[in-house]
Amino acid sequence: MVKKIAILTSGGDAPGMNACTRACIRAGLAEGKDMYVIYDGFRGLVEGDIKQVNKDFTQDIINRGGTIIRSARLPEFKEPAVLEKAAQQLNDFEIDALIGIGGDGTFRGLGDLSKHGIKVVGIPATIDNDVGSTDETIGFSTALNTICDCVDKLKDTSGSHQRCSLIEVMGRHCGDLAMFAALAEGAEGVICVEHPLHEDVLFRKLRKMKAQNKSHAIIIVSENLLDIKELAKKIEEKTGFDTRTEVLGRLQRGGSPVAHDRILAARLADKAVTLLVKGEVAHGKIVGVKNNQIVDFEIQEALAMKHEHTHGLRDLIDKLQ
Ligand code: ATP
Repeated sequence: MVKKIAILTSGGDAPGMNACTRACIRAGLAEGKDMYVIYDGFRGLVEGDIKQVNKDFTQDIINRGGTIIRSARLPEFKEPAVLEKAAQQLNDFEIDALIGIGGDGTFRGLGDLSKHGIKVVGIPATIDNDVGSTDETIGFSTALNTICDCVDKLKDTSGSHQRCSLIEVMGRHCGDLAMFAALAEGAEGVICVEHPLHEDVLFRKLRKMKAQNKSHAIIIVSENLLDIKELAKKIEEKTGFDTRTEVLGRLQRGGSPVAHDRILAARLADKAVTLLVKGEVAHGKIVGVKNNQIVDFEIQEALAMKHEHTHGLRDLIDKLQ
């Protein structure tokens, strides 16, 4: 039977990680379990930066952005000796279960750890929404709202000067933030893996808008795809639209989580703790939400699931442009 449960946050931070940490701790305490936090993700685990916590620890963190137990990246976590050390630390503290809050990379680390006899559960939290085993990740809604807030502001100034704005958003290699933001903002264009750039189509559209004296054009571009400064130059040459670029960057990671992310965090945390308490984790599981139902999968099954969240949106975005 699981008696001591530890929690860590890992990978890129996401708004709602604190709400999730809080919900895990409170759900565990409510079941009479001893609850621990591990600072700095897998790095803190290997170094033994582990602390037992009570309810006081969770006060006033539900609305805080970032992660108060901090996050880190530790590429060496794949190495057998490092994993061995991590498992040993948990054994030394007599911790029998670990909840990891993060993305696919975090889940791979948890999977490796489960081979050392630790029961693990992964909770998806990343602004990129790039996890195949869940429809949504903690932090995505907040980041999307932040992007929309920024684009609304850029629209004001873009419109005042009859400009085209190229706005780069995060997502790693996933277009969800770009596609959802484009739909929510009624953007004139979106460029991401799921909606690639067709220069001729874009330039034709912008030339037409210019001819019709449209006040501004907003194009949302996913990171890691192209040089937006180069594209801006081309747009100016080919369409005559005065064009500016904005990289929203890490602004997208910060801020107080929206209510949706806090609620998602509570539901997923409760599921993770319940699976452990009820003895339903033989080695490792990942929790998620599918069609608004909280679900769970074996880790390897979850990692093999393909991410296809934006497919239904492509036609709708084009239709409404
Ligand atoms: P995000 O995508 O939001 O950054 P993530 O969890 O995918 O979240 P990663 O940096 O990919 O972020 O992974 C977090 C940590 O998980 C890594 O720093 C590393 O310690 C561990 N990790 C990643 N991949 C593996 C792997 N294949 N095996 C063991 N550990 C891994």
